[in-house]
Amino acid sequence: MYSMLAGQGPMIEAPACPREPERLSFLRALRILDTPIEERFERITRLVCTTLRVPIAAISLVDERRQWFKSIAGIDVAETPRDISFCGHAILRCEPMVVPDSLEDERFFDNPLVVDEPFFRFYAGYPLTFGTDIRIGTLCAIDRIPREISEDQLAVLSDLGKVAESEITNAALCDAHRRLVEELEDAERAALIDPLSRLWNRAGGERLLECEWQSARRSGKPISIAFLDIDDFKGVNDRYGHQVGDEVLKHFARVILSGQRPYDIVSRWGGEEFVIAMPGCDERDLLNVLERRIKAIRKTRLKITDGPNLATASIGACTAYPSRGDDLKVALKRADRAMYAAKNAGRNRYVVDEAPDLRKETRNDSERSPETREPHARIANLG
Ligand code: GH3
Ligand code: MG
Ligand code: MG
Repeated sequence: MYSMLAGQGPMIEAPACPREPERLSFLRALRILDTPIEERFERITRLVCTTLRVPIAAISLVDERRQWFKSIAGIDVAETPRDISFCGHAILRCEPMVVPDSLEDERFFDNPLVVDEPFFRFYAGYPLTFGTDIRIGTLCAIDRIPREISEDQLAVLSDLGKVAESEITNAALCDAHRRLVEELEDAERAALIDPLSRLWNRAGGERLLECEWQSARRSGKPISIAFLDIDDFKGVNDRYGHQVGDEVLKHFARVILSGQRPYDIVSRWGGEEFVIAMPGCDERDLLNVLERRIKAIRKTRLKITDGPNLATASIGACTAYPSRGDDLKVALKRADRAMYAAKNAGRNRYVVDEAPDLRKETRNDSERSPETREPHARIANLG
């Protein structure tokens, strides 16, 4: 399967970085390890794949004993040991590291990532650098065949790497995310993330929602909540197998995330159900969001080998005003009920549960926009 280079010893582990303690404390202080995937980083790895025409791209952060991927496209893994990582080598230098053929490289020819799944042959990694020379990880492009990289392509990788650096320092998360991330140790944070979708799990989503609810109570702003449930998912599992089902779930997680703002809370609530909470989103915004979301889901081809091309979802949603006394549990129940109404109305659509009785007391009819003057449950069938 692979050729041992003449006269060569075994694979070379990445030596420790100079100023390693300083590097690690900088990385930890960023509070980025063991956080959910975010669209602003997903976008960058997607761009690396399309512009460099590679099947795999990652934003890899080199922790003490592991490399942890903030975003990874084309392969399904959240972390790998540091001692076998290419990125552990790439962060030793300030220039990008290029390995045209790992079988011809004394550092990697018998690396388990090379001789076995996922069979890495080509690697180009831009070291993510902060301050003068603190390198916390890489933006890397990987292929399963040996190849060259042009100067132009390397310049694109470096430019995207710089975009990743500024995203890492840019606090784009909402206050609730930031507070939660700061409150928790890495391990506690990891427990609030769903390993399959790499979104917040239900416990994480609930904690963030409670926090946002308190903020909205003070600010007077609305919060919209949407329950999204994949249609006929049992059928997907039955027809294509559980593994394809998992792929569909991961795919949905990314489609949902790509349409939300960075400060929205996107969580996998359980099974094939996601909850999206949108701080500051009122009734009118909500209709726009749902319209776009359902269209994007219908349009998206799944690109899963031996899997379905398309899958749809049903969404139930509502808008609540914590400052007017709306209760979080009641709001969740309203959105959940609306989701079941969407299922009963034929799936592949959204239903908005309109203003509860409380709203009638606090807003008179003349204040209400035409969109919200309709009856309690509004069924929007785009089909
Ligand atoms: P509906 O349109 O009414 O929502 O139908 P449905 O088939 O999507 O809903 P149902 O509740 O009957 O089935 C949900 C299925 O989701 C059953 C369960 O095995 C599957 N499921 C839950 N979690 C996972 C998971 O993590 N991976 C996979 N592959 N399947 C899962
Ligand atoms: Mg379902
Ligand atoms: Mg369900």
